[in-house]
Amino acid sequence: MLRTRSIGVMGGGQLGRMLAHAAQRLGMRVTVLDPQADCPAAQVADAHIQAAYDDDQALDALAMRCDAITTEFENVPAHSLVRLAQSKPVRPSADAVAIAQDRLLEKQFFLKQGIATAAFWQLDKPADASHRASIEACHDARFPAILKTRRLGYDGKGQINVPNHESLSKAWAELGYVDCLLEERLDLRFELSVVLARSRGGELRVYQAIENIHHQGILALSYFPARSHPEFAKQAEALAAKLANGLDYQGVLCVEFFVVGPLDDPRQWHIVANEMAPRPHNSGHITMDACAVSQFEQQARVLAEFPLGDSSAHAYACLINLLGDRWFDREGRYREPDWAGLLAIKGLHLHLYGKHEARVGRKMGHINLCATSEALVDRALEKALKVLERS
Ligand code: ADP
Ligand code: MG
Repeated sequence: MLRTRSIGVMGGGQLGRMLAHAAQRLGMRVTVLDPQADCPAAQVADAHIQAAYDDDQALDALAMRCDAITTEFENVPAHSLVRLAQSKPVRPSADAVAIAQDRLLEKQFFLKQGIATAAFWQLDKPADASHRASIEACHDARFPAILKTRRLGYDGKGQINVPNHESLSKAWAELGYVDCLLEERLDLRFELSVVLARSRGGELRVYQAIENIHHQGILALSYFPARSHPEFAKQAEALAAKLANGLDYQGVLCVEFFVVGPLDDPRQWHIVANEMAPRPHNSGHITMDACAVSQFEQQARVLAEFPLGDSSAHAYACLINLLGDRWFDREGRYREPDWAGLLAIKGLHLHLYGKHEARVGRKMGHINLCATSEALVDRALEKALKVLERS
């Protein structure tokens, strides 16, 4: 008889939901721990432990039920992962997650691996009411810059533009004087992400780089494989593999990169690492329909200690993130997108996350468009955007 494999997921959002789908297809049972009732992953999981992420009793119950445990968001308390790891394998490890959830440790790790990243200056939460010393320590910072909280930032949240040294104090006050990094604003030409899976034994599967377009800090569109200047895609893939090996990483990892340099002189362009996510990534949702094996199935395979799957692409593709904004017309009136119009488009795959309420900026789902050429992807994209923008 086949042994049932049981996996646990910290967090019940859309990433947990898509992981559950992939794991269940491989015959696994999925238990989700999330404080919220009826969250996207709990709707499809075999079991839901509704509790806080640091509830020891709930963590022990999760560990008891499962053969291996993962997390679907990087801000899970590190000590919860440590506790789980005392009884069951946790992939990725608490150590790897601790690096990815802190922008300072992450950047220091990039530099240790010999990988360029934006210049940064550290602003430590002041011990007393005076924060002048920390600001002084940034006297040689380059402006314009971006002030980013070291922890808990996502989708452009926890970031403020700082045009000059004089505005630094106000920006930091706005972020509540928490530990921050001041980062030089780079001259971005384009953005890439690389998703990969690495097994316990160090086997690697690297997906081709994805090219990402953000609006207001949130992913809007991804092209797969990346289209601009393929030499940078190759570099990004090699650098992401190097980082995963350097961390002895187990699980699915995404590394975001910037290609930077002056607009008029591509010979001066170079690649820098921006940040890492210790989990499947929004841009990697494209692998669900464009690749032999998706990022979620890879994560399930790592957890079950199955061999990793084929990461090669079988289509050209584009991802459209469906934010809650699409549920409102130009006058701000609520209306659902025209699903029938979208689903009539050839090569279109619709993924909705089961969220009950659409809000501006909230990730409600995504669309993958797949075709046999970039030109056909572009035609489908044009049609899909037309349907989405119809008010
Ligand atoms: P998060 O994705 O966690 O919100 P990021 O550091 O990836 O934070 O920043 C979000 C977006 O802001 C990036 O994808 C990029 O478009 C822009 N950005 C971030 N850092 C810089 C920088 N140093 N220079 C220019 N643009 C940046
Ligand atoms: Mg980012």
